[in-house]
Amino acid sequence: MLIETFIRKELGLKAHTVTQVEQTEEAMLVSIDRLDQRLLRCGVCRQRCRKVHNVSKKEREWRDLSMRGVPLILRYYPRRVVCPRCGVRVEDFPWAEPWARVTKVLAHAVAKLAREVSWLTTARQYGLNWKSVATIVKRAVRYGLKNRARPAVHMIGIDEGSRRKGQVYLTVVYDLERRVVLWVGEDRTEEAVRKFFTEEMGRRRCSSLKVVCMDMWAPYAKLVREHARNAQILFDRFHIVKHLNEALDEVRRSEMRRLSAKEKVTFKGVRWLLLKNPWNLKPDQKNRLSTLVRWNTPMVRAYYLKESFQLFWNYKQPWRAKEHLRKWMNSAMRSKLEPMKKFVKMLRSHLDGVLAWTKLRLSNGALEGMNNKIKSISHRSFGFRTAKNFIAAIYHSCARLPLPAER
Ligand SMILES: [Zn+2]
Repeated sequence: MLIETFIRKELGLKAHTVTQVEQTEEAMLVSIDRLDQRLLRCGVCRQRCRKVHNVSKKEREWRDLSMRGVPLILRYYPRRVVCPRCGVRVEDFPWAEPWARVTKVLAHAVAKLAREVSWLTTARQYGLNWKSVATIVKRAVRYGLKNRARPAVHMIGIDEGSRRKGQVYLTVVYDLERRVVLWVGEDRTEEAVRKFFTEEMGRRRCSSLKVVCMDMWAPYAKLVREHARNAQILFDRFHIVKHLNEALDEVRRSEMRRLSAKEKVTFKGVRWLLLKNPWNLKPDQKNRLSTLVRWNTPMVRAYYLKESFQLFWNYKQPWRAKEHLRKWMNSAMRSKLEPMKKFVKMLRSHLDGVLAWTKLRLSNGALEGMNNKIKSISHRSFGFRTAKNFIAAIYHSCARLPLPAER
């Protein structure tokens, strides 16, 4: 079989044919022409058109997959056809999307690899530049969002994502059952996240929401009450523990400020000692902790509070969990530790969403894998100058979107 025939079959050409394949030093140039008697299609509506208006004077090029390491470049003079519906339009190219500069096959391969590795690595692999990869991925995401399956959603987790500490903030909404990203929004304000409920979900889909898991400090609770009245708000276990640890850390820091220089030496590196579970401590760490206990009562009070709070997660009966929490909050309020009191106030104003844990036993921790994926996207994304690219990359890797067809 001739190479021309081979390529024609690979590209699935019907109204076009390969007239010549020419090898240069860098690439294989594949010249394409149309077959006279076959009808071309309209590039807008794909309707068959009887009349060709004119032939472009400018030859267009498309990058295709490489063959044995040699890039394939398709060349063709596009026709403009007279479409009965659309008027004079550029024809439909069976090998590529209307404005693409790569073939569908190459775009598909690029999009597939870009799910797993960085855009830069993908670009190198296929001999493209970063921008071409970005264009391909964003096109794939647009297609995927339009064509994805949208089954009813019952449990969602709302979380923050940030990129380059403090520069770009995102809000990510996950489907906790299917474990996919549902929506990514720029910023983390109430106004930004409202779009998830109004645009992405809409009233009908919102009504099926049963649980919304989120951080206590997030401004989203009001939105949930407004848009998803049937949903139970659940404050995320990992976020609650994080706030508690931060309170403990604040007590430690203010105590450190009070201590003399000599005493400070013993306290160095104490942070991890306090945050660790006691049964994971090594003997010398236990010793240091007991010195700490003798020396420092505010820190110890905070430490015991942190430890005793954690029992809350184990209760099976809601009333017992509630009772534990009530007692714990009372003793924390009496502790004279400002950070702990602040933590209690936060709990009190969100009590229903905290207690919901005992019944639901659900947290965004189930999403840790995906969370890490988003972090690694953020780390490997030196080229993302805008939040838009970052958002596209998250959708592409975490939303399980369908890809455009190969041909
Ligand atoms: Zn048309």
